[in-house]
Amino acid sequence: MSLFGNQPPLSVDAVVEESESRSETIETRSTQSKKKSVVWGHFVDTGDKKVVCKHCGSALSKVKGSGTSHLPRHLLTSCKSIGDEERANMLTTQGDDWFDPSTFKFDPELTRGLLTLFFIDAELPFSVTESRFFEPAMRSLRPEYRSVGRQTVREDCVAVFKAGCRVALAELQELDSRVSFTSDIWTSSANLGYLCLTAHWIDKGFQFQKRIIAFKKIPYPHSGQAVADLVEKIWTDWKLDDKIFAITLDNSSVNDLAVKHLESRLSEKMLFGASHMHMRCSAHILNLIAQEGMKLIHTTLENIRELLRHIGSSGSRLQVLNSILDELNLSPKKGLALDCPTRWNSTLLMIKEALVLKGALKRYVNDQGSIKGPSLEEWNNAEDMATFLEPFLDAIKIFSSVRKPSSHTYIKEVWTIRRLLLLENHKDSAILRELAVRMQKKFDKYWENPNLILTLATIFDPRYKLIFLVFCFKKAYGEGSEANARLDYVRDWLKKYYEEYEKACMDQDSGVGSSQGERQIFKK
Ligand SMILES: [Zn+2]
Repeated sequence: MSLFGNQPPLSVDAVVEESESRSETIETRSTQSKKKSVVWGHFVDTGDKKVVCKHCGSALSKVKGSGTSHLPRHLLTSCKSIGDEERANMLTTQGDDWFDPSTFKFDPELTRGLLTLFFIDAELPFSVTESRFFEPAMRSLRPEYRSVGRQTVREDCVAVFKAGCRVALAELQELDSRVSFTSDIWTSSANLGYLCLTAHWIDKGFQFQKRIIAFKKIPYPHSGQAVADLVEKIWTDWKLDDKIFAITLDNSSVNDLAVKHLESRLSEKMLFGASHMHMRCSAHILNLIAQEGMKLIHTTLENIRELLRHIGSSGSRLQVLNSILDELNLSPKKGLALDCPTRWNSTLLMIKEALVLKGALKRYVNDQGSIKGPSLEEWNNAEDMATFLEPFLDAIKIFSSVRKPSSHTYIKEVWTIRRLLLLENHKDSAILRELAVRMQKKFDKYWENPNLILTLATIFDPRYKLIFLVFCFKKAYGEGSEANARLDYVRDWLKKYYEEYEKACMDQDSGVGSSQGERQIFKK
């Protein structure tokens, strides 16, 4: 019978809060040696049969004669203040201390908790646990170990997920700032639509945080109304509807409609009647601009793609290419990566790879005669296009970064793209001239009026402040009245937002009920 066979999965409570009254098996090590243990560096002994976790402040039992195995378990699997990164780091750097063979005591619950984290982190299928070799491998380390079934692993993972939700919910409830969101719809292979909603906020320690708070099936048809209904329901479930700042979505008529619904439903609870709630995804706009340019060399791209697909789809053809590469002193290829045509940056990477292999690819076409590759002119166009779009890759990296904030760099990135489109040195090439015109048209459609909130974020960057904006606007709109009018508009809004937050802070200071006062920060 398995050790956990008849046990319930790790409960949410077990994961979130360690029980204060655990009865552990008796362990008879001296207080002295216990305190030397690496575990004790993470707890304060309050002397009243309790120890307090230095990370999260939870009080855990320290009853005389009871053991301490719940302490490492708390730190390694359930302390809500230790993030995955820190936990993994703790285990790596202090592994020898945690698992010192001279004091080690097998704790099946700790192993089960760590395995749950392992399954989640490595994104393993739950059935791994039922592999014929999983339990023997584990028992070779620890003979007492018994595997749990896939259903139990699943339930344990769900318990960790729910615990994470509860921690995030508690943090969001206490938050004294607003929360922003990003969302997208993903279609499964069974053609079912799922909406993913991610919350982004700055925590008490001024650290950037993000959590996927929902991944839910969206009813068909995926209309603006359906998107708005689902997003509103998630916000209500998470008690967030009076804390929303903005939501970033791809450009589509469905999303535009969804935001309109949300704006009208939530305007009362939002700053300035939700007028700045809608953010258009900058990475998506850049994609639209670059795709517009790529349309110009559509046939070239199709020819390159077809040639790479032709060679890459057969081992023997790849061998022929590799023997040519060998003669040219180039490294052999294990395969040829094709692009995802809806993502311009993947197309650019494909062009760049093809250009590196250009000599060999041309020889392949000449020698084999089984496929017609790009013409000389097409290769030249591809080369021009790659050189032109290369600097855009930096912008897409910044716009797509998820680990650090990027809103304060918006103006700088958008202005760099604008400058690139207006550069004179590409005017000699007919294709680049046309490309710049087309891309400029798209640019103007989406970015002629820079997003106000992101512009304000740029002002808050001490490297840029207002002076950078003055510089950009005067470059773009000249020294005349247009630049000044645009700058006045931004300054007006900066003042409005400042006054809104100032009022909230003053309400707070004058003691309008402290917690109520804090909440005023969010409300009109
Ligand atoms: Zn803790």
